[in-house]
Amino acid sequence: MKSSIEDTTTSPAKGRVWLVGAGPGDVELLTLKALRVLRLCEVWLVDDLVGRDILELARPGTRIIEVGKRGGCTSTPQEFILRLMESHARQGRTVARVKGGDPYIFGRAGEEIAWLTERGIEAQSVSGITAGLAVAGALGLPLTHRGVARGVTLVTAHTADGTQPDWQALARSGLSIVCYMGMSKPRALAQQWLEAGFAPTLPVAVVQHVSCATQRHACTTLEHLAATIEAQGLASPAIIVLGEAVRHAQAQGVAFQAAPQAMPCAGRG
Ligand code: SAH
Repeated sequence: MKSSIEDTTTSPAKGRVWLVGAGPGDVELLTLKALRVLRLCEVWLVDDLVGRDILELARPGTRIIEVGKRGGCTSTPQEFILRLMESHARQGRTVARVKGGDPYIFGRAGEEIAWLTERGIEAQSVSGITAGLAVAGALGLPLTHRGVARGVTLVTAHTADGTQPDWQALARSGLSIVCYMGMSKPRALAQQWLEAGFAPTLPVAVVQHVSCATQRHACTTLEHLAATIEAQGLASPAIIVLGEAVRHAQAQGVAFQAAPQAMPCAGRG
């Protein structure tokens, strides 16, 4: 079967948009397909969670537009980004919307693809390794460890409408909980988790800059989560993992510490 990349980018007159998952940051975690598609694209609209090394892979002459949207920072309004993609595509360009991790995991791919296709712009996506799952390889953390975790769920602590996952149900689920966007109020979040029925002694891991040279992490228990984050100065972007599986993390330099003391953060190792 012919590759869809070759099939769909042959007409120079017809622009299109690719939503490309760039993975968690380490350039080597970019998929081969993402690399091929990126090198076809003349314009890249790049999120700020995208590893900077990935920009070096652009063909000479590629127009790179940074459109970071991190909470609390100066960001490009979503509507403007959508219009920018539309405008370049209408001018016959192949556009990459380069997103951290996977475009469909808390990455708005669903709404962006719908918006573009409604306007007659061809839009497709390329999967990326999502940050929450990259934690497994980064820490040797077996998210679905047999006999310990029945599965894994990806949740966000921060939603546009203020709603929350059903924490009580998750506390009873026996799943490893991988939480995105949980670093703005860790003390309140940990309190919510305790009230929902997660055990104070439940192991938790916090991993900042997963897979990047700047990766830092801490493994502790839920009751010491906020104090550990504060003591070690861990901050967004980070993933918090809750669950017994954390106790089995075994990458070099990963130490499980139930005690609340500030411990030195290990690097990527
Ligand atoms: N689409 C992305 C998620 C974007 S939402 C993905 O699939 O990974 C933004 C949140 O993702 C951040 O607040 C943080 O919780 C998480 N995140 C993204 N990249 C990260 C990284 N390299 N290290 C740790 N967390 C990351």
